Amino acid sequence: MRCAIVHYHELALKGRNRPYFEHRLARHIRLALRGLGIGPVELLPGRIRIALADDTPWEPVKCRLSKVFGIANFLLAHAVSLDRTGNLDTLQTAVGEAVQDLSFSTFRVSTKRADKRFPLTSMDVDRTIGAHVCALTGKRVSLGHPDLTIHIELLSTEAYYSVQRAAGPGGLPVGISGKVICLISGGIDSPVAAHRMMKRGCKAVFVHFHGRPYVTRASEEKVREIVQLLTEYQLYSRLYSIPFGEIQRQIVLGAPAEFRVILYRRMMLRIAEEVARRERCWALVTGDSLGQVASQTPENLTVVEEAAQLPMLRPLIGMDKSEITEEAQRLGTFETSIEPDQDCCRLFVPPHPATKSGLDHIRKIERGLDLGALVKQGLEGADLAEFNFPAQ
Ligand code: ATP
Ligand code: MG
Repeated sequence: MRCAIVHYHELALKGRNRPYFEHRLARHIRLALRGLGIGPVELLPGRIRIALADDTPWEPVKCRLSKVFGIANFLLAHAVSLDRTGNLDTLQTAVGEAVQDLSFSTFRVSTKRADKRFPLTSMDVDRTIGAHVCALTGKRVSLGHPDLTIHIELLSTEAYYSVQRAAGPGGLPVGISGKVICLISGGIDSPVAAHRMMKRGCKAVFVHFHGRPYVTRASEEKVREIVQLLTEYQLYSRLYSIPFGEIQRQIVLGAPAEFRVILYRRMMLRIAEEVARRERCWALVTGDSLGQVASQTPENLTVVEEAAQLPMLRPLIGMDKSEITEEAQRLGTFETSIEPDQDCCRLFVPPHPATKSGLDHIRKIERGLDLGALVKQGLEGADLAEFNFPAQ
């Protein structure tokens, strides 16, 4: 039987959460591999097995599994039945056939024994299979840096062997940490922030504020592209696009120029928080990084945050721009993020926004605005789009 064997980190799995974690992960894998013609996805002790047909191409399966959070690593494996007396003949013949035509000079065997009742230890199996491969191919064992690692897993009635192992993305299965609102701007940072929270098991609901009618649709199109890309990690996404240009214009009418950005941000949070209530999200996520721009000084972050009741998560707060940029490049969102657009935050903004805005002062300015009406206006104009992966 040809299959993929998926491993997850044990640490996240302590106690009663374990079955829940495993079922979520297996379900996500099933959905992520839709359309690739795979067989059943089943829980085995400590691992997940995905049955593959002999002709199921491995590359697309590998590519999709590499985006399933919760997976530590996975193998393309074959199964043989295991003789409970400790006779390894069937296994060693199969391994011999699998490696015979591969090109390598050095190798090692790495065995895991899930069922400790098996009469041989992992090391016994390493030695027996290693000796067989040496005799068959004339290749050398190297425990340090082998060209080829032969992975063997012994379960109670079957053994799996593999010469192909790939890294998973780590993290926790999407959804086990609840839902969060990700404020996504079309810039470099916010997609990276969303991705980081998804990696820790959060399902992201996206909210984007656009400056229409005062700007083009460019930022909205970028955000759609980015959300489509991020959907590969969570399979289904909702994006609320909220018209903000008119709200900004009203803020501009009542506020000194230097505080506009802070007032915009506070308004964004109030609207995002309403969306969070509807969507049952427990937190708001932004791509803020400390000190990067005027709105991200300690004082301004504090004043902005005060407008929201829900916890604010800022996963990039301690990262440099260069580190965030590298992560965006690895993620594949960077190219889209750097396309030119007309970010609503640059609308009606002075060249020197305040780096310190006292809360009392900001509140006083806000008393001149009908905050409730502005929130309502944003929500009423919201446009909801849905994204699926694999595309349906
Ligand atoms: P980004 O690259 O994500 O745009 P940035 O470095 O440009 O970040 P700011 O423009 O100050 O930083 O935005 C800080 C955070 O505020 C963003 O990461 C995002 O979470 C949120 N934000 C800013 N503008 C918008 C917007 N138009 N719609 C939704 N969220 C936004
Ligand atoms: Mg921005």
